Amino acid sequence: MAGDARPAWEGAATCGGATALYHHLRVAETELLYATDAYLRAFDARVVEVTPEGGVILDRTAFYPTGGGQPHDLGTLSWDGVSASVVEVKKSGALVVHRLEGDLPTVGSAVHGEIDWQRRYALMRQHTALHSMSGVIYELYGATVTGGQMYPDRARMDFLLPDLSQDRLRTIEERTNELLEEGHPVSIRFLPRSEAFQIPDLIRTKVNLIPEGIEEIRVVNIEGIDQQADGGTHVANTSEVGRVHITGSENKGKGNKRLEIKLS
Ligand SMILES: [Zn+2]
Repeated sequence: MAGDARPAWEGAATCGGATALYHHLRVAETELLYATDAYLRAFDARVVEVTPEGGVILDRTAFYPTGGGQPHDLGTLSWDGVSASVVEVKKSGALVVHRLEGDLPTVGSAVHGEIDWQRRYALMRQHTALHSMSGVIYELYGATVTGGQMYPDRARMDFLLPDLSQDRLRTIEERTNELLEEGHPVSIRFLPRSEAFQIPDLIRTKVNLIPEGIEEIRVVNIEGIDQQADGGTHVANTSEVGRVHITGSENKGKGNKRLEIKLS
């Protein structure tokens, strides 16, 4: 939904970075450590491929690749006393490609990865804030989300709601903060496709647009607030988000509204 070349269905599945779901499709795939443990800051892995463009592919990674409105991680990879900055992380099919600045490891090398945790944790808070707000907007006005984009210091969300007054903005902000403060747990689970298709929250957030062939759906459940098929990283409890401040709103045409938020 960042308006790039990702397939249309992905944006439609809310900010559901369903790209991360591809990893269940192929045998030769990067194991996505962040998909099951968002709090993993460091890991060990092996280099399986170095692309002609200098992209490093590992057997496993905790680096989040850009997708679903969440920007990629930054950090370092080190091996044999060498350390290089990871400056970009992208998904390529079922593989995660790390672009490094400086030296490159050779195929087969054992590497140690470290995530820029300050940046990642900030993005996790923004991501959970957006999902929570989308749950609130649906609860209050039955409006569905059409897109979202996170940054370490702010985020924005688009949704279909023709009538958005100052009053409503205030209500959305207050209700979101009330719920966040209550400390709702955030859980991740993987469901068989047929089971996911029965859950009303997932139907509402267009789980049906996830392509055939993906048999296991990753579901992010902010208990009691919002449930979506999503590939992104989230905090474990809404109390970690802090407070949401709506800093701006904008008409995007055809009933679409955009909200901008900051956290404190
Ligand atoms: Zn999301």
